[in-house]
Amino acid sequence: MSTIKLLSFDLDDTLWLSAPTIHKAEQAFYQHLQLHAPALVAKFSPEALREHRLKYLRAQPNLRHHISQWRTDSLRQALIESGYGKQSSEMASAAFAVFIAARQQVLLLEHCTTVLQELSKNYVLISLTNGNADLSNLAISNHFSASYRAEELGAAKPAAPLFLEALKHAGCRPEEGIHIGDNINDDIFGAKEVGMHAIQARFAADAPPPHPLADQHFNDWRELPALIRQLEAKLKTS
Ligand SMILES: [Mg+2]
Repeated sequence: MSTIKLLSFDLDDTLWLSAPTIHKAEQAFYQHLQLHAPALVAKFSPEALREHRLKYLRAQPNLRHHISQWRTDSLRQALIESGYGKQSSEMASAAFAVFIAARQQVLLLEHCTTVLQELSKNYVLISLTNGNADLSNLAISNHFSASYRAEELGAAKPAAPLFLEALKHAGCRPEEGIHIGDNINDDIFGAKEVGMHAIQARFAADAPPPHPLADQHFNDWRELPALIRQLEAKLKTS
């Protein structure tokens, strides 16, 4: 017999839509550069700067697990290439601060807050993200026992470390945990690999169809508590 103790949640495209959030943050980032780094803007369009960032990652693939450092370091390199020399480090840090502040301006999906509040009464809630959103800036963080980011652990989902950290914090076995997220590989496959259950969140416009590996799927936050209860009932009888 198994009961569920831990609910771990992905953030982007699970608690809020990532595309509008990141789009606004990218705009704020580039607008800051238009004001403070005209020589860079003359050399790099927003698309060219994005291409430069991807090229930088190809040269240093480990930065994939440190996305804040990746954005800052690659911008510093672009600033150096634009002739800013020694000022480049400081300028890159200032531009990143603008990006990350805008990145935290998320619009929670409808009913997400009330459902999380309800679930927190019966389960340990932990957030697990590969992104650089910081849950501690949001009021809903009150409902979470802990929040782990890939860049802090140096390993991104689907690798086990984030899931194992959540299980350790909650003091439970993998089969006593459900991970809820949108990405088939990072969230669903990753959770299943460590032996947790997985519920697929389908909110993004380009969300993939329900995946056979997921135990349940939802696209309305009000559905989630019943899905968890159904899964618990199934586990008790199996
Ligand atoms: Mg996600």
